[in-house]
Amino acid sequence: MLLFTHARCLDHEMTPGHPERPDRLRALLQHLQATGLMADLDVREPAPADAAALAEIHEVGYLETLTRLAPVSGLVALDPDTAIGPSSLAAATLAAGAAADAVRALLNDEARRAFCAVRPPGHHAEAGGAMGFCLYNNVALGAVTALADPGVTRVAILDFDVHHGNGTVDIFKDRPDVLVCSSFQHPFYPHRYTDLDREHIVNTPLPAGTGSAAFRAAIEHDWLPALERHKPQLILVSAGFDAHRLDPLAQLELEEADFRWVTELIVDQAETYAGGRVASTLEGGYDLAALAQSAAAHIEALMSN
Ligand SMILES: [Zn+2]
Repeated sequence: MLLFTHARCLDHEMTPGHPERPDRLRALLQHLQATGLMADLDVREPAPADAAALAEIHEVGYLETLTRLAPVSGLVALDPDTAIGPSSLAAATLAAGAAADAVRALLNDEARRAFCAVRPPGHHAEAGGAMGFCLYNNVALGAVTALADPGVTRVAILDFDVHHGNGTVDIFKDRPDVLVCSSFQHPFYPHRYTDLDREHIVNTPLPAGTGSAAFRAAIEHDWLPALERHKPQLILVSAGFDAHRLDPLAQLELEEADFRWVTELIVDQAETYAGGRVASTLEGGYDLAALAQSAAAHIEALMSN
């Protein structure tokens, strides 16, 4: 199994005390070392996504605005939660590039599973703008990279971050070749696209306090029929771990075991439809220990089979 990560993803910093901080990635990588999991992974550095690739998923005007606003020092606010500093775009192009590189490696039969331990996250970034700690939509770049392969006509993006993957829905709302399934606390940030009614967009809203059993039942009820209909040739995952009960930003009350369970379900679906191919990328998760342990459970489950 492949692990894509890059030291420059640690350089992106927003305001002091911001939950989306370099220590998230540090804690995750240290935990993978401490548990010995890292030794079983084929660790690679991604290449940065270039402007032409990013223009496949984002409006050129937005990409130009980001480049123009990027400061040589200090921070520039893009929305109330999201800012860029001198190192942010380098980190973001590597985070997006990791998803694309992971997909290319899987389609090239170098491995069947890949995880991108990168930041900033991506699933809130819409075609035309940054939002919710996200600059470029990493998982979306992975999806269009897969669909550029003439042998790939159907992919799925499964998003179990506690927040709705509005950016991914925005980018693919008119692309029925991309199935997007997103489970999320509701009503909750980002309050976008949650009532969009399209066959290839599957929203699974969950109330605060949902917990393990109701989460698992909802995923089985909503995602499995959609996957059977769509029969994706590759599965991408927006792997956020902020639905954990210890997470300071949300109240979905999941456990580490639920992330292992949903990953096993995803692997099983990939075995059925997608030649076992799963490319997963890190989204949220803001309690450092819960993030590290849940991501390790996710990676372990991806490594099985
Ligand atoms: Zn989130």
